[in-house]
Amino acid sequence: MALTQNQINRYSRHLLLPEVGVAGQEKICNSKVLLIGTGGLGSPSALYLAAAGVGNIGLIDFDVVEFSNLQRQVAHGESTVGKLKVDSAKDRIADLNSDVRVTTYNTRLTSENAMKIFSDYDIIVDGTDNFPTRYLASDACVLLRKPYIYGCILRFEGQASVFDSRLGPCYRCLYPEPPPPGMVPSCAEGGVLGILPGIVGLIQANEVIKLVLGEGESLVGRLLLFDALSMKFRELKLHKDKSCPICGENPTITELIDYDQFCGIPAAEESTADAALEIGVEQVKQMLDAKHAFKLIDVREPSEYQICKIAGATLIPLGDIEANDVKKLNGLRPDEEIVLHCKAGVRSMNALKALQKMGFSNLKSMRGGINEWSEKIDASVPLY
Ligand SMILES: [Zn+2]
Repeated sequence: MALTQNQINRYSRHLLLPEVGVAGQEKICNSKVLLIGTGGLGSPSALYLAAAGVGNIGLIDFDVVEFSNLQRQVAHGESTVGKLKVDSAKDRIADLNSDVRVTTYNTRLTSENAMKIFSDYDIIVDGTDNFPTRYLASDACVLLRKPYIYGCILRFEGQASVFDSRLGPCYRCLYPEPPPPGMVPSCAEGGVLGILPGIVGLIQANEVIKLVLGEGESLVGRLLLFDALSMKFRELKLHKDKSCPICGENPTITELIDYDQFCGIPAAEESTADAALEIGVEQVKQMLDAKHAFKLIDVREPSEYQICKIAGATLIPLGDIEANDVKKLNGLRPDEEIVLHCKAGVRSMNALKALQKMGFSNLKSMRGGINEWSEKIDASVPLY
């Protein structure tokens, strides 16, 4: 397919580069790239890949745009808050470059749909923030022999690499086992500098274009580490693991598995057991109003406590509770009735389990955290 007059005009700065030229631009226009997630990493990748002329872009996401996304997820805007992210990003891309064919998948990526969706694309770009999806996407790429462009961000630090088991290691060669659930905080819990996913997402997009062109030196076999605070890039050499269960000499994984189970995400029965340790925001409000004798403990970080708090709550950050040191517990006694809360309900459940081990027995974790409190009880408490 030859470039049209309009395309020659649009891509003229590319055509001037000997490494791209007309033939290279035609490769870009014919390429098929799937972006998993249209959030912090997926937004900048999607916009620049569309601007560069990637002809077929697949977008997979099941979320809707929230106001707190706009600090970094630049494919979306105030006018699309509340809309599906895939639709919001598709509209933005259509305005940027109407040549691009965008296919949207408003769904969660699963072991059931991954192989079918991936098979329509040349390159898979991972912009997700959870371990089950990362292992799933990496495994599917190994099985389908496709390059997997990895990116990862938290607070001020990012990582990127290209995993292609035909040429080098896969993600499992680097991380054979996922960390225990709850060990690595998500950006929603730990925070992230808004610029950071822009930088890492564009490193991923840059790798895509190089692979399409077959130019330059890709990140295959290298893990790039970036620290935005010190403005330093470092690089680790990665080696293929001969005993890797999926890309090694004797693979034991030959099809996609249950990634929630692999990553230790509790199955339904365990979640039910946890649910019995939870208490709803309405009930906590009644207990406060009735001046019921109990302690409400906020296990978030001091920086979060400064953003908002529930009147009557005492701050004891999760780290102090997990330190297993009674002196850090602010006089909390094992025989008291205690309700723990955090932002969304995950850390407070971890705190509850840590306190159980220390002999506390009358414990509840407030379901949905202070965010649910803000939505259902007191709208003057800001959502963050
Ligand atoms: Zn491997």
